[in-house]
Amino acid sequence: QAKRDGGNCYQFYNQGITDSIQEDQKIENALHFAVERGEFMLHYQPIIDISNGRVSGNEALLRWVNPEFSHVPVGKVIDIAERSGLITDIGQWVMEEALRQNKAWQDQGYEPMVISINISVLQFEQARFIRNVREAIHNSGLEPEWVQLEITETTAMSPGEDKVDKMAALKGLGVSIAIDDFGTGYSSLAYFTQFPISTLKIDRTFVSRLPDDPKAEMITNAIISMAESLEISTTAEGVETKEQQEALRELGCTHIQGFYYARPCSAVTVISHFRTIGMN
Ligand code: C2E
Ligand code: MG
Ligand code: MG
Ligand code: MG
Repeated sequence: QAKRDGGNCYQFYNQGITDSIQEDQKIENALHFAVERGEFMLHYQPIIDISNGRVSGNEALLRWVNPEFSHVPVGKVIDIAERSGLITDIGQWVMEEALRQNKAWQDQGYEPMVISINISVLQFEQARFIRNVREAIHNSGLEPEWVQLEITETTAMSPGEDKVDKMAALKGLGVSIAIDDFGTGYSSLAYFTQFPISTLKIDRTFVSRLPDDPKAEMITNAIISMAESLEISTTAEGVETKEQQEALRELGCTHIQGFYYARPCSAVTVISHFRTIGMN
């Protein structure tokens, strides 16, 4: 009896793996055509300057509009795109579209804001990445000061070529660099003093435990104090409650982002949060 159960179990388990490999393969096949078929769009999530409550920037987040795969979480789409190498083409599309949209908002008379673009490790490591960024910015007509690249802590820590030089070259283009998901990668804060970064994005895993978890508060406090002394700004990710926002304000966090203020939404919907120039 036990043996038979075990056998069934094993078979079931195998079947589960086979199904998920097949689904990943289907997703990858469909992703091959997604850019040319115009199936991607970007959502934008505002980043708020705590000192004045205004939108200082917007993060571009990929969305895949496909009848068969719209339910697949973006994180999974990105994983598959990275494993298959498709992320470099998708990431290039994201960069061009995000820059175009930010310029369009400026041309429409909204107060200039920074556009934050997530960069995959494969993109960052491309030899031509710096050139791609320079050309994309040039073609968009946007001033580089309104462009921020989000590089995850894991990307910044990955072994291989010199990350410091590459970030310095990016910085030389006039863009700013944020370290995304900070606190999850077990790197020391001191490690980051060598990088020319302007923002640390404090990962949601800490933010979601505020204000009641003393350990999360201690870590958040340490990140913010260190960033302050380095004159780096801090954006708390995934702020969902007023209590979290107030705790972060007291700790000296400079920016917040999360469902409490606004969920990611389309370029048309997000403008309800913007200010036009000359208005107060
Ligand atoms: P991320 O860059 O850390 O983006 C933040 C994620 O948290 C987004 O998920 C956002 O929708 C979600 N989020 C924002 N506020 C809240 C909140 O208050 N509560 C909760 N529970 N979640 C919140 P999303 O859009 O599903 O993206 C997931 C990840 O996929 C991103 O994490 C990023 O790593 C990656 N990603 C998304 N778009 C791109 C892209 O264009 N290129 C690359 N390379 N990666 C991307
Ligand atoms: Mg991000
Ligand atoms: Mg993040
Ligand atoms: Mg995150």
